Amino acid sequence: MVNTVVKKVYILDGGELELDASVMVSGDRPGQRIRIPVQYFLLETTRGFVLIDTGNDPDVIDDPEGTWGIPLASAATPIMEKRNHPLEQIKLLGLNASDIKMVVYTHLHHDHCGGARFFPEALHVVQKAEYRWVSAPDGFSTFPYQKSDYDHPNFNWNLAEGDWCILPGVHLISTPGHTPGHQSIALWDVPDVGSVILAGDAVNCQNNVAWDTPGGITSDATSAAMSMHRLTALANVMDANMLVSHDMGFFETLPKAPDALTRFSAEQKAFWKHGVQTVYRGISDPANLI
Ligand SMILES: [Zn+2]
Repeated sequence: MVNTVVKKVYILDGGELELDASVMVSGDRPGQRIRIPVQYFLLETTRGFVLIDTGNDPDVIDDPEGTWGIPLASAATPIMEKRNHPLEQIKLLGLNASDIKMVVYTHLHHDHCGGARFFPEALHVVQKAEYRWVSAPDGFSTFPYQKSDYDHPNFNWNLAEGDWCILPGVHLISTPGHTPGHQSIALWDVPDVGSVILAGDAVNCQNNVAWDTPGGITSDATSAAMSMHRLTALANVMDANMLVSHDMGFFETLPKAPDALTRFSAEQKAFWKHGVQTVYRGISDPANLI
């Protein structure tokens, strides 16, 4: 057992995006618009409260096109209400901005760091590769980044490089491919829940794992596939509750704040258990390789 600082995990509801299905799984139903959840997470720890991601910029509630520009707001149309504002979400637990000691970003896309500015006193943690990339991305990859989300010179940034134990029981897992500096977060032995993997956009939805196909937006599709395999193998070792970022059907089965995350059912783990066969080349139980 890991002596973790994490006491509870809460899922925060950041509203939805409507976008092309092929963004979630490359090649899936091009031309068909689907709705996906925007979620982020609150960790209650013995060191204070930690946010994992912050959802969309809540200015999109009133003015999506003015906030994101017409191309992005049209491609990923936000469906967000005041209750989805990060300050409203943490208020469900009786918290305000100054209670948040640290914000960890899986990556800096618009639907993951849009609420950053509401937490100026926190320590902000992102991979150095991601922070470097937002300053000088390849042209085709600039689309989902909004400078106003992350360009806060007065922030106390902590730029992580690769895997890192950031708090006892809380590990950053480098999972590049969706973006160059994407990371996932592993929480070991959360009381009454077990181990948890917050995959971020390394796994958009269960079908990425089931079909062994990364999402449609990648900076490096080969790395994205390898990162997905890495998380699947890790989930197997941890017997983890793996939370994928944007799967509406799955999201609807999960408890939301103010209720805390609970232990997953076998059915909720089934997708990555299936994915283990991909990782271990058709052998469903790696304990039986020889
Ligand atoms: Zn993303």
